[in-house]
Amino acid sequence: RAKSAGRGCYRFFEAEMNAQALLRRTLQVDIRRGLQAGEFELFYQPQVSLPARRLTGFEALLRWRHPERGLLTPDRFVPLAEDMGLILPLGEWVLTQACAEAAAWPADKKLAVNLSPVQFTGSLVETVTTALHAAGLDAARLELEVTETVLLRETEATLVTLHRLRGLGVAIALDDFGTGYSSLGYLQRFPFDKVKIDRTFIRSLGKSRESDAIVRSVIDLCDALDMVTIAEGVETEEQRRILTAQGCDEAQGHLFGRPMTVPEIRDLLRVQIAPLPAPPRASA
Ligand code: C2E
Ligand code: MG
Ligand code: MG
Ligand code: MG
Repeated sequence: RAKSAGRGCYRFFEAEMNAQALLRRTLQVDIRRGLQAGEFELFYQPQVSLPARRLTGFEALLRWRHPERGLLTPDRFVPLAEDMGLILPLGEWVLTQACAEAAAWPADKKLAVNLSPVQFTGSLVETVTTALHAAGLDAARLELEVTETVLLRETEATLVTLHRLRGLGVAIALDDFGTGYSSLGYLQRFPFDKVKIDRTFIRSLGKSRESDAIVRSVIDLCDALDMVTIAEGVETEEQRRILTAQGCDEAQGHLFGRPMTVPEIRDLLRVQIAPLPAPPRASA
């Protein structure tokens, strides 16, 4: 390679690096600003029991109502917030906010909150304790969702944290099960309360014998290990029927309800708990 070309390349690379760094810096400031401006919002998606389809609770799903870019889903900003350590204040906000909201629900409805692996480097147990206490929410109503990534960079500290969280009375769910490496091993390494079967397996239920067999095996295994199973991304009646036949405990997906705003779920809960409306009075 010619020296001059190499130098040109280098300059281009350097300029590109600066542009990248600037963009990241801009977004970092933007996330901070958004957090202060109250632009983050939690949506809540129903989780139901099978076969009864009784509402058991909701999973909190983070959104960013960005003034210029519109409503953003987590894939657009969570990885960035993780890189920049901003997931710590953001995650703390999520826990505080979600626990406060759940405290207003009927006591039999549970709350599931997603955790980033990065939060395990912070004072997670204290953050969770504070959020529960501030909201007056019973720990038994909170479930924390972690992915295999948390155990991938497994340290003694991670396991200690998971056990301490469980010690608070909080349940731990393994999210996106089946998408990572050596998944079965993780079920042995930590006693999860619940396993969320990833929607990639649910999607092909009834269409592929392999998927049916995998899902059935996961459900049977979890059953044997005393873990609750929940299927993610259930969209069709056929999927629901197969999961029910296979003995899956719970389900979540567009078939039962999309992620909803706070006013929407409060309406839903009011419908569930309110007595039947009085018959309309004859108009005068
Ligand atoms: P997840 O925890 O696996 O959440 C389920 C995702 O599937 C959600 O995407 C949900 O909107 C979507 N979904 C639910 N039902 C269906 C369905 O029937 N069909 C399809 N196609 N999709 C369905 P969302 O809200 O975009 O969240 C994506 C991911 O972002 C979550 O995956 C979770 O890992 C992460 N996330 C969400 N909220 C938070 C948070 O507060 N903190 C952290 N650290 N991560 C979060
Ligand atoms: Mg989740
Ligand atoms: Mg998931
Ligand atoms: Mg998933």
